[in-house]
Amino acid sequence: AGAASLALTLSACGQNSEGGSKEGEGDAKGGTIGIAMPTKSSERWILDGDYVKKNLEAKGYKPKLVYGEDDPDQQVSQVENLITQGVKALIIAAIDNKSMNNVLQQAKDANIPVISYDRLILGTKNVDYYASFDNEKVGELQGSYIVEKLGLKDGSKKGPFNIELFAGSNDDNNTRYFFGGAMKVLQPYIDKKQLVVRSGQTKLNQVTTLRWDGGTAQKRMDDILTSAYKTERVDAVLSPYDGISIGILSALKSDDYGSKSKPLPVVTGQDAEVASLKSIEAGQQTQTVFKDTRELAKVATDMVDAALNDKKPKLNDTKTYDNGVKVVPAFLLKPVSVDKSNYQKVVIDSGYHKASDLK
Ligand code: BGC
Repeated sequence: AGAASLALTLSACGQNSEGGSKEGEGDAKGGTIGIAMPTKSSERWILDGDYVKKNLEAKGYKPKLVYGEDDPDQQVSQVENLITQGVKALIIAAIDNKSMNNVLQQAKDANIPVISYDRLILGTKNVDYYASFDNEKVGELQGSYIVEKLGLKDGSKKGPFNIELFAGSNDDNNTRYFFGGAMKVLQPYIDKKQLVVRSGQTKLNQVTTLRWDGGTAQKRMDDILTSAYKTERVDAVLSPYDGISIGILSALKSDDYGSKSKPLPVVTGQDAEVASLKSIEAGQQTQTVFKDTRELAKVATDMVDAALNDKKPKLNDTKTYDNGVKVVPAFLLKPVSVDKSNYQKVVIDSGYHKASDLK
């Protein structure tokens, strides 16, 4: 009998081959864990899904992974189905953070712990833990990158420079943290008129991008270029996410930016997606924020494991993330700013993407 059949025998006895007896841990070991991800249209969520699955399997769970295709109603019924199928715990990256209240009451009634994954679920006490990144820091990294790159930070340039602002989806709680973090850095320069927003659109509710859609951002950038940049040139664009950055760049390129006489502005991003790394390498997108979803998957898996075994998971923030009903205890990972100078080291050498993916 090989290791595989030994593992089979042990797991049939409620044990596993690594840990010896699991008595007293209830029947959760080996149980099915539901994972609800928002969309396959962005690479990051595909990676998240794969890593969470792998981590759960390594701990002896059976993952069941579903994608909501950016449709909140579809995601709610997917979660309902997972509950009906008898999952032992749920890991949810919500599409609309306020759509989950009823379905999470069903989870609570069935005694199913819920991990809010990357995006905080709002308006319900039925969220046990939050696994994410320091979301305000993400915005700070984007804002700081812009003022450094323009030469405003070290005072080597005084400006004024023209900037336009983009934010993420208004139903994603992260959006206000990203935007808030970026504006903390940018606002003082706007106040001093070293940065000028020619469109006049500076309030969060004027600059959001429903469902983080690149096409929507492209259209808004087109409109801004037509209305506010007839004679002026845009020097920087705050973009919260790579898919949005690519849309913005398309609008800029169709307005002749990127030609000799009209350089592209500084354009930020987030997620270190392959298309954006290629764009950075080609000198188009300027920056992105790398968030190691391999680590996030581990954090979420540990939270599930702790919740199912009456243990406390590792937490490092128990005061920031108030969802309106409770402060959800969190573990927040560190985001890293990436541009042409360090993406090789941070994203490729760490094995997150293969060099060949960028060809
Ligand atoms: C995530 C970002 C991502 C965005 C769009 C946010 O909730 O934190 O990493 O870029 O959703 O998918």
